[in-house]
Amino acid sequence: MNLHYQTNDKGHLAIGGADALDLAQEYGTPLYVVDEMRVRENYRRVYQAFSQEYKKFQIFYAAKANTNLAVMRILEEEGSGIDAVSPGEIYTSLLAGFEPERILYTGNNITTTELEFALKSGVRINVDSVSQLQRLAELPRSDGLKISFRVNPMVGAGHHDHCITGGELSKFGIMEHEAVDVYNMALDLGFRPVGIHTHIGSGILDPEPFKLAVKVLMDVAGQVHGETGVNFEFIDFGGGLGIPYTPDEPQLEIETFAREITRLFKEKIYEYGLNNPTLCIEPGRYIVGDASYLLTRVNTVKQSYRKFVGVDAGFNTLLRPTMYGSYHHILVGDKPEARAQENLDVAGNICESGDLFARERPLPKIKEGDVLAIMNAGAYAFSMASQYNSRPRPAEVLVRKGEVDIIRERETFADLLSKQNLPVRLLK
Ligand SMILES: *Cc1c(COP(=O)(O)O)cnc(C)c1O
Repeated sequence: MNLHYQTNDKGHLAIGGADALDLAQEYGTPLYVVDEMRVRENYRRVYQAFSQEYKKFQIFYAAKANTNLAVMRILEEEGSGIDAVSPGEIYTSLLAGFEPERILYTGNNITTTELEFALKSGVRINVDSVSQLQRLAELPRSDGLKISFRVNPMVGAGHHDHCITGGELSKFGIMEHEAVDVYNMALDLGFRPVGIHTHIGSGILDPEPFKLAVKVLMDVAGQVHGETGVNFEFIDFGGGLGIPYTPDEPQLEIETFAREITRLFKEKIYEYGLNNPTLCIEPGRYIVGDASYLLTRVNTVKQSYRKFVGVDAGFNTLLRPTMYGSYHHILVGDKPEARAQENLDVAGNICESGDLFARERPLPKIKEGDVLAIMNAGAYAFSMASQYNSRPRPAEVLVRKGEVDIIRERETFADLLSKQNLPVRLLK
């Protein structure tokens, strides 16, 4: 079993030293629970693996995986930078205490207003298209601005088609063969291009496509340096580091991964005479994915054409199973070690038949009132939650050494209506 969890002396699931059953009882369900130390450990594992191979190394945590302020503060304390993909994420990152220089804004199909916002906030802009470059050049105070470009290296990888962000079908970045022209254009427009970036996909457990992308990006960087004289201060290989979701999926061997990537990187900076640029990566899932659980309580056990276990969360709470067909391992809170006894469908409370957390899942005996813990609910989980079916979004708590803090309050009905207005002529 490659999935990480702990139990306490009662044999219950323990999260950050707190009993999952107590958490569900005290804070209600559905409930997101973040294990603070696990976030820190994950960050440190990646940081150490890379920085012991190459000193000038920086992590830009991909905020979209989990934008909770407390989670972001923790990563700021650890020394991370931020990969932000929207003005909202820039705003949140600044509020979480990140210096603007440590925020890299990689926007796709963004408006000039958004570019203006990024420029004013002083973050580093990672340009995705010639259109963006030209519109940025027209803004006041863009002269001499340090920028970077996102390159699409014709290599893609990921756990689902929607998550493959490199290659022919991808909407992201400039093409590798236009890079020299685009860097020249940037120089002509008065910019100071200092970085190059790629991000090929998400949920990558096999290092090969990632290594290929590193190789391609380094060749592009070398060519740009050779032909335009641009000196790269940083080279950013994006995120995508995967975690196991099923019990028998492998762990990414982070030390081997880091060693192979940095070896390739060092060979290429030597080959092209690049001046020790900072090596950057942008993991999101790897850092926060396995640090959270979604606790949900069983309210219905029903034998229909199949046997259903009905819970109080739905795809509005955790979208990944419905959106990507993702597997999320499920533990029973009071007996996480119990052996599977029957195949069950775990269904949510949303009025759509696709609202399932598991189909035909071998699980222990489950009864009404049980608390289930859906694992790996830290990345692309709350950040994708919605109010669909007019169900308020759940609370989030942060746990450390048994101490619990509410880091997001449960929404109320008033929150569902907070931005709606009833025109006077429709008032009753
Ligand atoms: C989403 C994203 C990441 C993070 O991807 P993970 O799979 O969570 O590591 C990194 N960089 C960019 C540009 C992204 O869009």
